[in-house]
Amino acid sequence: MRIRWDEIPADGLFFSVDDDSWVPGNVVVCQGPGVCRVSLKKEGGRVLFAGTMRLPVVLDCDRCLESFVYTLAEEFEVVFEWLAKEEEAGLASEYFCKSSELDVVYLAEPVVDVFSVLAQQVYLGLPEKKLCSDKCLWLCSECGVNLNYCPCDCSSGAGASHSMCWQS
Ligand SMILES: [Zn+2]
Ligand SMILES: [Zn+2]
Repeated sequence: MRIRWDEIPADGLFFSVDDDSWVPGNVVVCQGPGVCRVSLKKEGGRVLFAGTMRLPVVLDCDRCLESFVYTLAEEFEVVFEWLAKEEEAGLASEYFCKSSELDVVYLAEPVVDVFSVLAQQVYLGLPEKKLCSDKCLWLCSECGVNLNYCPCDCSSGAGASHSMCWQS
């Protein structure tokens, strides 16, 4: 979804994105539709892009490897600035070129790609450690049993079978 700056009215543009066609499927799998609310406002020579995102996604737990649903809840604000070619051709050649201080994204043309901004927020919003629960136990390194379901006897040395503990 590309929005040209001259399509943004003086009092701003507000809308919701409730389909998930923009979600980077190679990164996350959605669990049901999310809701994103977006506002675009012109301010001086810039466009302020603000939004909120709630997106339930399926992740695999780093510890027990089970998949679980995690809801991305993001609030974000990005400032777009359009650099006319003759000014800063070098800077604008990269689509995303972030300044170190502000979240300013320099554009080579006065067009905001809404979906790519949303996709970017998914990358930024994913937790570094993906855990199904803070209390998640690991898989046993000896026998591989999921210790959330059933303790094993490896550490106790009893060597008992846990076949009865497995859950489908
Ligand atoms: Zn887990
Ligand atoms: Zn074990």
